[in-house]
Amino acid sequence: MAVTGAMLIGAEEIRGTQGEMRAANPATGTELEPVFGGGTTADVDKACELADRDFDAFRAAPLETRALLLETIAQNLMDLGDELIERAMAESGLPRPRLEGERARTCGQLKLFASLVRDGRFLNVVIDTALPDRKPLPRSDLRSRKIPVGPVAVFGASNFPLAFSVAGGDTAAALAAGCPVVAKAHPSHLGTSELAGRAIQQAIAKCGLPAGTFSLLVGIGNEVGGALVKHPAIQSVAFTGSRKGGQALVAIAAARPQPIPVFAEMSSINPLFLLPAALETRGAAIATGLVGSATLGVGQFCTKPGLIFGIAGETFDAFTRAAGEAISAANAATMLNAGIQQAFAHGVGSLDTIDGVTKLGSGAEASHAVAAQPVLFATTAESFRSNPKLAEEIFGPVALVIACKDDAEMVHLANQFEGQLTATMHLEAADHALAAKLLPVLERKAGRIVVNGFPTGVEVSYAMVHGGPAPSTSDARATSVGAMAIERFLRPVCYQDFPTDLLPSELQDANLASKPRLVDGKLLTA
Ligand code: NAP
Repeated sequence: MAVTGAMLIGAEEIRGTQGEMRAANPATGTELEPVFGGGTTADVDKACELADRDFDAFRAAPLETRALLLETIAQNLMDLGDELIERAMAESGLPRPRLEGERARTCGQLKLFASLVRDGRFLNVVIDTALPDRKPLPRSDLRSRKIPVGPVAVFGASNFPLAFSVAGGDTAAALAAGCPVVAKAHPSHLGTSELAGRAIQQAIAKCGLPAGTFSLLVGIGNEVGGALVKHPAIQSVAFTGSRKGGQALVAIAAARPQPIPVFAEMSSINPLFLLPAALETRGAAIATGLVGSATLGVGQFCTKPGLIFGIAGETFDAFTRAAGEAISAANAATMLNAGIQQAFAHGVGSLDTIDGVTKLGSGAEASHAVAAQPVLFATTAESFRSNPKLAEEIFGPVALVIACKDDAEMVHLANQFEGQLTATMHLEAADHALAAKLLPVLERKAGRIVVNGFPTGVEVSYAMVHGGPAPSTSDARATSVGAMAIERFLRPVCYQDFPTDLLPSELQDANLASKPRLVDGKLLTA
């Protein structure tokens, strides 16, 4: 399937007329064919109007058809074969095994949402039967279910060109909920976006669903993205990227005549707390694991561990020496794009100049302009407290190790954090008293708390929470990974005293037995 540089608006291919843009290979600097045309606000209007026009038809299609759509998208992505992988490699600098794994994850999440749709529990059927004889007042027949919110705008992330992009988790969750999607291609991987967009467009046609169910826009600069969030047809926004970008979209959405939710996943520094007995028992293994996690994917994961806390002393010193040795053995590698490399170089450069921060070690030197040299820094809790910049996310293979003087200082610093996607404790039985003090603090700060592991590697499953208080996300009530991600795009509607033939079919008595439901407060499954 050829990449043409067109936008996909409903069933049509439309060439953007607002400027031109090419993707570039970050490893070589080579610009890639073809040229993409940027969309106009008229293109945004067209995509959003189609989504609005076809919303009712899409949500009315049988759940089985919706599930088949998700599975067909997964199959179409696989059928693209090497073309998809090679384009993603060229645009992202990520190696083949990583992208093949990411494709498997992308298909896996589409299939997870297909099974969720078939299962039907997400409809959240709740029935309070009428009590006509209740005194002093009778009770009406009340039935509720969840419906899709309407068209969703999806902004993919640079660091997951497949799994968090055009056909990624946000799109899968929105389509599963019954929401049309208008996606904006990330400027770093335009060709990968087009291929994934075509996989979705073709699946929609194959499943006989309305064309407005999906569109893919290209934008040069922020105008297209801003217009998309402002469009009155759009009812929710899913975003993964920078804190600045996410906050800009939140502000645009809040300023609309009808404000809408923005589920932005933005910035997290993912603290690790290394408790004394764990360091005593396996400090060297933790050091190696930490460096592996902080350098995985060139440190370009939202869950990269960025701050590592321990309690000063000989055991902690041995750990920092081991971590310094491990980082010195790490390779340099290509980052996703020149902008991300420059932000990384700037962040590392400023850490290097802060008083009280020392370098524990650095890996192989970068061999070209868009590559990153891994590096590990150390400081004391006192310096950390007096330099708020030390708690800011630096996207890339860098982490900062902080020596606390005692347990109380560790708990105190944990209390100072902004919201996080994850927090991790390494502990042994002798550490449980300190862990019990940290835990209530970490629950208030993070969406996922990891014990004796590392936060990179986010399972796509039913219990996963990939979210957290701001600035890790703009809405701590949601997750952007896993089955619960569908909740972002649903809202409840209650039907009071409806005649049976006007009720949605899943709320009609004759159909109740097929799905789990809450009747008069009791969960019924058969
Ligand atoms: P980004 O610059 O925030 O861009 C993400 C998407 O949002 C792009 O499609 C971008 O398109 C659009 N956008 C950004 N600002 C906008 C605005 N004001 N109005 C409308 N649209 C806007 O993120 P990125 O390029 O993926 O990465 C840059 C930085 O984000 C990284 O250095 C890293 O710090 C962070 N990051 C975080 C995560 C995470 O998981 N938390 C993931 C990736 C990146 P246009 O620029 O074309 O408008």
